[in-house]
Amino acid sequence: MAIERTFSILKPDATRRNLTGKINAVFEDAGLRIVAQKRIQMSRAQAEAFYGVHRERGFFNDLVSFMISGPVVVQVLEGENAVARHREVMGATNPANAAEGTVRKMFAESIEANSVHGSDSPENAAIEIAYFFAGTEIVG
Ligand code: ADP
Ligand code: MG
Repeated sequence: MAIERTFSILKPDATRRNLTGKINAVFEDAGLRIVAQKRIQMSRAQAEAFYGVHRERGFFNDLVSFMISGPVVVQVLEGENAVARHREVMGATNPANAAEGTVRKMFAESIEANSVHGSDSPENAAIEIAYFFAGTEIVG
């Protein structure tokens, strides 16, 4: 299996509760390496564009408001099969359905405030990484 990169966000519910280190430890213990990371305040336009694929969903406006309600930590994670591995340790979107030991099972507050984002394919990972990081900011 090849070394891959994926894009990760620690969402405002996680930064508000000071969980950056605890969540990063889960990723690192899963064999994912944090090769880029920064704490930012997303603008509404940035969040709307990032979640553009969900524009028609009923939860879109609430989701955008939530994502700009506080700082987020954006990251690039690298490792074997990183996209799938990251999704595995994140757990199901709805924490009620998330497996034991996953980030969302341990930390998510709700289906919306579910602590973490992760790319769903290598193709989307490349798009999402380029949206937030210059190549020179990623140090593998
Ligand atoms: P995932 O983050 O697991 O890839 P989706 O891409 O389907 O999930 O949804 C993006 C984000 O939108 C979720 O992580 C969550 O914050 C929010 N979301 C998804 N479904 C709902 C819902 N039914 N109600 C409220 N928020 C939702
Ligand atoms: Mg998704």
